[in-house]
Amino acid sequence: MVMRKSIVAGNWKMNMNKAQAEDLFNNINQLDIPESVNVIVAPPSLYLTQFNVTNNRIQLASQNVSHENNGAFTGEISAEMLSSIGLKYSIVGHSERRAMYGENDGIVAKKIDTLLANNISPIFCCGELKTDRVNNNHEDVVESQIKNSLFHLSPDQFKSIVIAYEPVWAIGTGLTASADDAQQMHAHIRNVVACKYGPDISEQISILYGGSCKPENASEIFSQKDIDGGLIGGAALKYSSFKDIIFSF
Ligand code: PEP
Repeated sequence: MVMRKSIVAGNWKMNMNKAQAEDLFNNINQLDIPESVNVIVAPPSLYLTQFNVTNNRIQLASQNVSHENNGAFTGEISAEMLSSIGLKYSIVGHSERRAMYGENDGIVAKKIDTLLANNISPIFCCGELKTDRVNNNHEDVVESQIKNSLFHLSPDQFKSIVIAYEPVWAIGTGLTASADDAQQMHAHIRNVVACKYGPDISEQISILYGGSCKPENASEIFSQKDIDGGLIGGAALKYSSFKDIIFSF
């Protein structure tokens, strides 16, 4: 049986000036991180080439990528550019990009393709709105996001995907899915993946939880059978809280 990767990924969003970013990164970079844990840091793209990663447990990620390969797309950054600076991960389909920048499942699918073509693992974000949960169709919503953006991939390509389940109502709100609710969704996602790609691949991919994850709730969430770590927003901006989350497995 393949051991799944445990991952703690920090999404810094559009926060911190260069000095603040370097200070936070240098602190994380000095941590003695267990062999079993993979830490991913997603700073603003501007800083990706500024950080000197000397810790072999740490990888950098971009927070976004263009769905186009190259050309006249002002302000965009291509997967080829990210690959050329040695990047191995990129977040795609974050709910803020879906809500504020019109990213739909089709665009996310194109981003996934361009990342994979450049050997970058997508951290694919999915998650339901509060109304979906109230109406009890949260599993269907997440299932269709996964099918629409990922199910055109070959089994080999799919192995490079990291899924981040992030209920939209829990992002930046202080509300967290209960460990049981999160586990239920993660099990559903693994089942959906198994139906298409088989149990081996489904057991192999890491599925992260995101949404107001913090030191106080990380251990309980990470101890769930189908939860392999977290995608962290607010709590990734403070060294002490991010460190405590890293050591929550
Ligand atoms: C996120 O934006 O991916 C996220 C999980 O944010 P927060 O931890 O602040 O809810």
